Amino acid sequence: MDPRESQLRPTFSLVIPVWNEEQVIPVLYERLVQVMKGVGDSWEVIFVNDGSTDRSLELLLELHERDPRIKVLNFSRNFGHQIAITAGFDYADGDAVIVMDADLQDPPEVLLRMIERWREGYDVVYAVRTKREGESKFKLWTAAAFYRLIHSIADVDIPLDAGDFRLMDRRVVLAMRRLREKSRFMRGLSSWVGFKQIAVEYERAPRYAGETKYPLRKMVRLAFNAITSFSHVPLQLATYTGFVFAGVSGVGIIIAIFMRLMGNAQLLGQATTLVSVLFLGGVQLIFLGIIGEYLGRIYDEVKNRPLYIVADAYGFDPPAQLMFHASRRSQVVSSSSESTQSAVHAEATTNRAPSADNA
Ligand code: UDP
Ligand code: MG
Repeated sequence: MDPRESQLRPTFSLVIPVWNEEQVIPVLYERLVQVMKGVGDSWEVIFVNDGSTDRSLELLLELHERDPRIKVLNFSRNFGHQIAITAGFDYADGDAVIVMDADLQDPPEVLLRMIERWREGYDVVYAVRTKREGESKFKLWTAAAFYRLIHSIADVDIPLDAGDFRLMDRRVVLAMRRLREKSRFMRGLSSWVGFKQIAVEYERAPRYAGETKYPLRKMVRLAFNAITSFSHVPLQLATYTGFVFAGVSGVGIIIAIFMRLMGNAQLLGQATTLVSVLFLGGVQLIFLGIIGEYLGRIYDEVKNRPLYIVADAYGFDPPAQLMFHASRRSQVVSSSSESTQSAVHAEATTNRAPSADNA
């Protein structure tokens, strides 16, 4: 590697997705600065503003003006938490990249322990929640059930009770950048890439302020993305169920014929017929729906839209290939400050990730 490159690149990149978090941003910044002081090495924070409609962007830009270590990617709309993390990975330059939530549920102090593990030689350090404060019984229960389900049916070993809060070595990040699937479950992808992984335990704090941005609807969607991305078991279930039903009805037919021959016709009332037909119809619809879940995701892959659109990028060097795209806006590129180059970023977003593989 070019030695100048490692001098330019920070040691740590923190990736923080932000969606309407105006109440937490100032405190988050203070806490981060405090903790990172103890680390000693250079660092940057990449805030990914995921289409906030409150003052989040304004606050982030104020921080960026004050502290050049703070960089901001501003999405053109809300693309979702997992996509925001993906963008962070695409733009992070650090030797180690750390993903954390903005709401201080992932206490910055845990970073120190993660960094220690990384220095010992681990490539992925994921944080496992031993306790979760300030969350509803329903969320705790559904989360626990979900982690166990995905653990048992996934093709890769996805650790229990670990969220997206984790540290990754640069080579893991470069591997992650190559995974461009549309329905993203980042923790699963992080298991899929392999490398030397280790857990650190922590107690998940309550949200510092504001409401959760993961209502039930989004949680279910994430769970479906996780399951369809990492398991074919739901599809195979149709086969197993089919065999069971065929077997049971085979026995049923024999019993019915036998009873008829014995002169007992009571078994075959209209209600029995109706109930069994409706039951089977319901089961078939469920499996059609499951096939639909996979099919919809295949369709998304085939359309192959970019994962996200960056409207503005603050604090990043324009990648070289931007120049090829910038004919109409070349004046902007050559004459403006970094913050107004951003329009060009939108066009180049899709190009950045693949080329970054060779970074
Ligand atoms: N978030 C985001 N886009 C979304 C939803 C959430 O960037 O569409 C961010 C949010 O600002 C926070 C993190 O993702 O930093 C996790 O969200 P939240 O804390 O609401 O999830 P929870 O901890 O309740 O599961
Ligand atoms: Mg949270």
